[in-house]
Amino acid sequence: MPLHVVVIGSGIVGASAAIELLRDGHRVTIVEPGTPGGPQAASYGNGAWLSPASIIPMSMPGLWKKVLGYLLDPGGPLTIRWRMLPRLAPWLIRFLRAGSTVAKVEATARRLSSLLHDAPSRHAALAAEIGAPDLVKRQGLLYAYPDRAAFEAEALAWRLRRDNGVRWIEIGAEELFQREPTLGRHYRFAVLVEDGGHCVDPGGYVAAIVAHVVGQGATLIQAEATGFDIAAGRLRAVTTSAGLIACDRVVLAAGIRSKALARAAGDRVPLESERGYHVVIADPAAGPRTPLMPSDGKMGNTMTRQGLRAAGQVELASVDALPDWRRADILLRHLLSAYPALDKGPLPDVARWMGHRPSTPDGLPVLGLASASSDIVYAFGHGHVGLAAGPVSGRLAADLVGGRQPGIDLKPFAATRF
Ligand SMILES: Cc1cc2nc3c(=O)[nH]c(=O)nc-3n(C[C@H](O)[C@H](O)[C@H](O)COP(=O)(O)OP(=O)(O)OC[C@H]3O[C@@H](n4cnc5c(N)ncnc54)[C@H](O)[C@@H]3O)c2cc1C
Repeated sequence: MPLHVVVIGSGIVGASAAIELLRDGHRVTIVEPGTPGGPQAASYGNGAWLSPASIIPMSMPGLWKKVLGYLLDPGGPLTIRWRMLPRLAPWLIRFLRAGSTVAKVEATARRLSSLLHDAPSRHAALAAEIGAPDLVKRQGLLYAYPDRAAFEAEALAWRLRRDNGVRWIEIGAEELFQREPTLGRHYRFAVLVEDGGHCVDPGGYVAAIVAHVVGQGATLIQAEATGFDIAAGRLRAVTTSAGLIACDRVVLAAGIRSKALARAAGDRVPLESERGYHVVIADPAAGPRTPLMPSDGKMGNTMTRQGLRAAGQVELASVDALPDWRRADILLRHLLSAYPALDKGPLPDVARWMGHRPSTPDGLPVLGLASASSDIVYAFGHGHVGLAAGPVSGRLAADLVGGRQPGIDLKPFAATRF
């Protein structure tokens, strides 16, 4: 039976849910306060990787031993605003516990793999469907190391990938130089995950999906969702800054802002922002031919339509704290050292961005039904992998709206797991 479904948020997850709901014959209204795919969304500024290999949780056994070193290193990949520590402590404790044993991270990797294993082909199909096939490329993803020993130091991560069907080829120094002539010669070993893909303009991609669904009959309302009108467990309406919107179902996909709305739907989800940054060098003099992650920089380097993008960094702070652009400058310094030709001549023209990874402490998204009403479907909390997992999450959300058994066991993703 066709339903009226309100999708809250139009990042990659909400946009993907909208297209799937239309496919199922529902009437769709998207509520979004910003521009779909605009810089307020994590979906705009991410690393653009569509990686079946992104199944390794941030929290791994022994991480706590490294954390202090990271925090004391002003140029490191992780920082915390110390004033926030008391508020963040419960999330951090859960985060460290989630990766405390190999068995736990094996389970997390398996669950993430169930979402990500076919991400590049799902994106290729989606981009083709909206008439923009050139936005998604499938030319692999490169992980570059100073030497083989540095790669082998990540043995657990690569073992988890292999166990979950990720395949790669090893590349020695000479071949790496042939493939990536502008990469610094201090990288002498790499692995290529051939199944990996990337998007050349994530924000433009989300905007194009939303334009497509509006062209197919969805309504886009520029407003902020503020809560729900629920009576006896049945959803009657979404309350928004533009008034009530009567509806049968909701898909909550508001990224980091989903926490308060999930609370209004009866669930306390420990969702925090792992703030991340990017820099984009327009018209770069050097850069990778294949998207590349230099192991020391812990950042994705990807050629996008806007230029060479380096995305990364984890900053734990409140959602509303001002950006600390020194974190973006760390990415820029890594780029200049990874591609020495960038460091010659005048300083390049650089755009900087900060955004919010909507992160749960166990590294898994929240996909399932709300406690206060099974008419509300959750699709948020995708942390580091939401671009890649957007289309499958959209499909799963539509399955839940339609009362169909999803093809993936969603118990590990329930909001009530916390
Ligand atoms: C630096 C960085 C690098 C990353 N790299 C990658 C990567 O390479 N690959 C990958 O797969 N993932 C990556 N990610 C993660 C990925 O970007 C996110 O997981 C994903 O974009 C989340 O999508 P979303 O649709 O849930 O949220 P968002 O994209 O944040 O969209 C949420 C939308 O909801 C709207 N909204 C907010 N409040 C309300 C409200 N009250 N009512 C209605 N709408 C509302 C917002 O305006 C926004 O448009 C990265 C993230 C960062 C920060």
